Amino acid sequence: MTKTTPLNLSASTTQGPLENLERFTATGTPSNIQHLGVYTSGGDAPGMNAAIRAVTRTALTQGIKVTGIAHGYRGMVGAEWIPLDTRAMGNILQRGGTILKTARLPEFADSVIRAKAAAQIRSAGMDALVCIGGDGSFAGARLLWTEHKVPIIGIPATIDNDIHGTESTIGFDTAVNAAVEAIDRIRDTADSHERLFIVEVMGRDSGFIALETGLAGGAEEIFFADNPVTVDDAINHIRRGMARGKRSSILIAAEGQKPGRAYDLAESIRKKSGFEAKVCVLGHVLRGGAPSAFDRNLASRMGLAAVEALRRGYCDAMMAWVRGRIDGVPLSAVIGKHKRVPDEWIRMAQTLSN
Ligand code: ADP
Repeated sequence: MTKTTPLNLSASTTQGPLENLERFTATGTPSNIQHLGVYTSGGDAPGMNAAIRAVTRTALTQGIKVTGIAHGYRGMVGAEWIPLDTRAMGNILQRGGTILKTARLPEFADSVIRAKAAAQIRSAGMDALVCIGGDGSFAGARLLWTEHKVPIIGIPATIDNDIHGTESTIGFDTAVNAAVEAIDRIRDTADSHERLFIVEVMGRDSGFIALETGLAGGAEEIFFADNPVTVDDAINHIRRGMARGKRSSILIAAEGQKPGRAYDLAESIRKKSGFEAKVCVLGHVLRGGAPSAFDRNLASRMGLAAVEALRRGYCDAMMAWVRGRIDGVPLSAVIGKHKRVPDEWIRMAQTLSN
């Protein structure tokens, strides 16, 4: 392994100086990391591989050994270790999903299981971890730090963009682009047949994909939890368009608590107005595929910054994209917080779709 000059984030204009790290929990062992573990957890997102690559190559160039932990917390408890070298990182930047695989382990809510995971980490010689995942994964990570003093930095990766404290999560841009491409295709048919379409996108509690897709795809109405639009609003909107000579419309609906809810919406619209709507549920199509350039670069910057933060002796924080640069946010300010779509974006979507 080649040892090179340590990276200096302060000298970089693109990565940002991480100046806020001083607010975070100090591990007390700056620059002393010998062996780093990296894992992906929860839902997969395009760009996770780019983050794994950035973490691994940044650490290796600083003489830090890197081990991949397969299947998230399940693999941590079961000691599923994958030694990572720089060659293993070749040809993964452009691949969706995660080479480390991901899983959900509800039993991680049990302190006995977490103690076992921490013991496995220690006996493998790992002295710090990078967790690439969502809110739930960070909740587990935080407990590993508070209960067992395993230093962890989180990297936010989920297509939903529903993580508080960062303007964008890894995978969100790719998912929106995939959805917009689908809308553009559907619009061709909607126009040709003069039809109403309802396109359902992922997003249980979060409306970011729906909103950004609706904005970029020119949707007539966008349904998601934080947007108080009703079926009557949508019908009125369609009627106003028809009065102006418009013959096709596209509505976007976040799946909400019930994937397939677009069919219920179509039925309500039909009952109330007689309009027949075609439904297209995009579902998991939005989770896969090659990450966009933005997601690859966001993941690369966050991966590099995560290793740098740990080297400086900080943990219990998440890397965040804030005003065009990488910053850090304490995990305590992230976990369990609902990130709302800003009201002004909702108003903007309403204005532009009129
Ligand atoms: P995401 O990280 O994408 O939000 P999940 O919410 O499914 O995905 O969380 C991923 C995993 O993180 C869970 O399967 C579980 O192992 C762990 N996890 C989630 N919430 C907690 C919690 N409150 N305490 C401990 N571990 C948790």
